[in-house]
Amino acid sequence: MALSVVKYGSEVLRKKAQFVPVVTDEMLQLVKDMLVTMHSTKGVGLAAQQVGRLESVCVIEIPEGCEDDDETEEFNASAVEMPLVMFNPKIISTSGEQDGKEGCLSFPSIGGEVTRPYEVVVQFMDISGAVRMITVRGFLARAVMHETDHLQGVLYIDHMSEEGRKKVENKLLKLAKKNGGVL
Ligand SMILES: [Zn+2]
Repeated sequence: MALSVVKYGSEVLRKKAQFVPVVTDEMLQLVKDMLVTMHSTKGVGLAAQQVGRLESVCVIEIPEGCEDDDETEEFNASAVEMPLVMFNPKIISTSGEQDGKEGCLSFPSIGGEVTRPYEVVVQFMDISGAVRMITVRGFLARAVMHETDHLQGVLYIDHMSEEGRKKVENKLLKLAKKNGGVL
């Protein structure tokens, strides 16, 4: 079942998600619904808060051909199968830097430049309940950082440069006002 996506301004987007100790049937259903929601909105990632939930879980699915270069794409493909479902993701280490455009399903028709690490090591519990650690690069690393941030109540606009933020400030305020007013 597709869930409705919470928009910027809603308080839940600024809340921290809670640790998920075990993968219950309820959690599997939530993941299923989040995947349906992400696909139906053509997003590449979705975190629990974006569907009004506070369990620490996010889903990512990067379509083929999204990466800047083949080498990165190949590296990611050998590291992780899509969709990537992560419970309790924790960033272990980061390295390098990349600049790129970022958007978010909770910010319709707003986007901006965000600097992120190029490579990320993330630990998480997978759908079978096993704790895993993977290294990802490029666009997938960007998505992992974006979704892990969501689970901490951090949004991509928090990482924009002052200049970039100014460009979208009016749109942001308008959107927030419509959805509860929490910045
Ligand atoms: Zn987002």
